[in-house]
Amino acid sequence: MIDIQTFMLALGVGNIAFALLMAGYMRGAPSNSALKAWMWARLLSGLGQVCAWTAPHFGVDLLVDVASFTWVAGAAMELGAYCLFFGFRRWRQALYPATVAAMLVVASAAALGASPRQMTWTVAVLVALLASAAAMILLRPQKDAPLLQRLIGAVDALFALAIWMWMAVADGRTDAFNASPILGFAYLSSYLLMIVNGFGFLLLCKMKDDAGMRRLATIDGLTETLNRRAFFERADAARMLAQRLRKPIALMMLDLDHFKQLNDGFGHACGDEALRVFAATARGMLREHDLMGRLGGEEFALALPGTSLEGALHAAERLRVAVTEAPLPSCATGYRMTVSIGVIVIEPNEELTAALARADHALYAAKVGGRNRVEVGSAILKCA
Ligand code: GH3
Ligand code: MG
Ligand code: MG
Repeated sequence: MIDIQTFMLALGVGNIAFALLMAGYMRGAPSNSALKAWMWARLLSGLGQVCAWTAPHFGVDLLVDVASFTWVAGAAMELGAYCLFFGFRRWRQALYPATVAAMLVVASAAALGASPRQMTWTVAVLVALLASAAAMILLRPQKDAPLLQRLIGAVDALFALAIWMWMAVADGRTDAFNASPILGFAYLSSYLLMIVNGFGFLLLCKMKDDAGMRRLATIDGLTETLNRRAFFERADAARMLAQRLRKPIALMMLDLDHFKQLNDGFGHACGDEALRVFAATARGMLREHDLMGRLGGEEFALALPGTSLEGALHAAERLRVAVTEAPLPSCATGYRMTVSIGVIVIEPNEELTAALARADHALYAAKVGGRNRVEVGSAILKCA
């Protein structure tokens, strides 16, 4: 039979071990304020739990109060870690006063000479409120929230529910683990909270970092389109899929006209802004599965799966007109941006590089033909 004191010690040691693990993980790694807050939350909760075990064992009453303060502070810090992780704004304006109020409640209970049992109730209410708030943050309606986030939220909700039930049904009893099902439920959910949320938050941070790294490796920082390598990879996958499904896939090569003049006349920063405007204009005209990449400088490529030559020509013409009408940055007053476009449809069994070379040829023809125009690429040359 596990009594609550032994259980507290196990939880406390577990939480402190987590905090040490995180301190080791963060050493040398890029600074992460959410993880740092989480580490302190684990440490405070762990210290609180160890103090709760120590107090009756060594008869130090003061430790009951210390345990109460650190435990509530740990739960508040955990909430702060979520707010930092999700990048909420103005969360401090709500959490700081709430934490101070919670501390004042604990201080008042201590000053009024609350018994250990009354103190346990006070802390339980405060921790349950903070855990409920954490569950609400993690389980809030949110598009594309990772399953891991939902799991952590579910454990927080379970933990909060267990405390409320323990207060309502188990009448504040803190005896052995199997003395009542409610007690067992309360103990197990706090154990789950330590394990699932401890590892879960670390993994959540890692998922976010990985997504950031993937983005850095695939997205062009200036125009937010795919970079050259990512475009080649994804367009090639789209080409193979289209060929397997026997669907057409169109390719366009696009190059802004006389871009050097814009740079020379209005400055490089203005040229950058024009590139962003161009990319946003083109992106606004794409369908969900269309791909857009910046191949370099002011040269872009589009892959339009499921689009015939006729459809691609229409799209290219619409894009050409949209670019001439796009609002230019204020730095380039009087300038008119135009684009030349080469269009082809990839032929069966044609490699992507060969198809892009044909589109590039068409682009060249558009340049030679006077710029600000769309040209269709010639059909693939078949060997006799
Ligand atoms: P054309 O109509 O024949 O395409 O002429 P162009 O001036 O657009 O072509 P050219 O290749 O001579 O010049 C392209 C210019 O694009 C030169 C380069 O400085 C500029 N450029 C390339 N990358 C960037 C960038 O990231 N930002 C800015 N502002 N300019 C860039
Ligand atoms: Mg150009
Ligand atoms: Mg160019």
